[in-house]
Amino acid sequence: MSDDLKDQDNNLENIDKETKNKDDYEEVCYICRRPESKVGKMLRIPNNISICSDCMQKTFDTINSNGMPYMDLMGFPPNVMNMNTVQKEVPKNQKLKKKKAEEEPAETADAFDIKNIPSPHVIKGKLDDYVVGQEHGKKVLSVAVYNHYKRVAADTMDDIEIEKSNMLMIGPTGSGKTFLVKTLARLLDVPLAITDATSLTEAGYIGDDVESVISKLLAAADNDVERAEKGIIFIDEIDKIAKKKNTNNRDVSGESVQQGLLKLLEGSDVEVPVGATSKNAMVPLTTVNTKNILFICGGAFPDLDTIIKTRLNKQTSIGFSADLKDKYDSDPNVLLKVSVEDLREFGMIPEFLGRLPIMFSLEGLTKDMLIKILKEPKNAILKQYQKLLALDEVCLEFDDGAMEAIAEKAMEKKTGARALRAIIEDFMLDIMYEIPKDINIGKVTITRDYIEKKGVPQIEMRGSNYKNLLLEGSN
Ligand code: ADP
Repeated sequence: MSDDLKDQDNNLENIDKETKNKDDYEEVCYICRRPESKVGKMLRIPNNISICSDCMQKTFDTINSNGMPYMDLMGFPPNVMNMNTVQKEVPKNQKLKKKKAEEEPAETADAFDIKNIPSPHVIKGKLDDYVVGQEHGKKVLSVAVYNHYKRVAADTMDDIEIEKSNMLMIGPTGSGKTFLVKTLARLLDVPLAITDATSLTEAGYIGDDVESVISKLLAAADNDVERAEKGIIFIDEIDKIAKKKNTNNRDVSGESVQQGLLKLLEGSDVEVPVGATSKNAMVPLTTVNTKNILFICGGAFPDLDTIIKTRLNKQTSIGFSADLKDKYDSDPNVLLKVSVEDLREFGMIPEFLGRLPIMFSLEGLTKDMLIKILKEPKNAILKQYQKLLALDEVCLEFDDGAMEAIAEKAMEKKTGARALRAIIEDFMLDIMYEIPKDINIGKVTITRDYIEKKGVPQIEMRGSNYKNLLLEGSN
């Protein structure tokens, strides 16, 4: 085949692919921005513009009755209606994915088929591969997710309607709240949207409306409404929308946001913009039902421990069985004893809490857990560095003292496991810079002294006995 012919062939293939991709998305009316599923078949005019029959009819009616109204009056130049000057096509992120034909098997069907929902112990087993500790949290999460998707699959239950299992997760910063949800969504192969409650405000005020969380989920599901309706939404920093105390101003980012979220949590039809987080005339809208969307709210709830302690101390200090007054003051995991009253006291409104029936706390990470996080998960941070150096055929090891030292430093920062990466990156920089200089280096062992900047790592040369060499330029 000559080169020309090959080129032509390639071009045709590309055009073929493009048309196939386009077929997956619904047309959107250029004028009213409603999708094909709402307005029926569209009329296509040059420049890839589609117009629904309603808008076409209205345009004809107007032209018939009074020519081209407004245009001359407002002094528009005649080429304002020139089709070449208008935007060529609705951007892809504003198009909706077409609903799949009934007989076509859905790609993600297995994840929701009642027989194929992995049972709680399997879900927890998979989570164990990535998330260290948090046994109680993982157990509650696996059971709730299992029940939720069972409920989604058994949609036809008549009398006994299973309630939604939205969750509230309480845990100190860096204890793995976001990480747990992300891992879970990946294992289940469902779309996930993560939003920050701090960016939400009551409709009409500066900030995102509550519906924007559904828009995000829709975008995560590639604008496929059906897939989005079975997704997971994680709302982080939920403690930041607690009712403001002692304020005379309207609480547009606190209590009102809780009120706004109520109908989403419960399950309702929500009209959301496609491809944007705010509604305006230029973006198409679609309706998403939130009945089967699993909402997980998470927050650190600072000072909640004081509220819990005060309640517990009050209980123990009355009556014959009175306990020591400060029994709970030094309890590090007092968050595990949280109750609805404590959260109400914190500023969450009862209606909101009522829609989050599953409530659990994550433990603060201990030194031992941090050490495990360093080395045990499937994509543990140390494993990542070991792999990087293995590509240079260098073996990287951390002795026990080194790992303890890293964990101790991370504990001081009080940001949970998040501090680990920063600490490791700090001292690995010299190693990653110096090692490739000398191809004779076969093994590097990181020691506690090196982490504490008191010594050097141990270096072993290829094919020679153990030597302790100074790393040039380090420290
Ligand atoms: P937060 O609770 O503040 O949402 P994250 O989930 O963002 O904390 O945690 C930050 C990082 O710390 C995660 O990306 C993850 O790598 C690590 N991490 C935290 N907790 C755990 C854990 N229990 N097991 C494994 N890694 C963890």
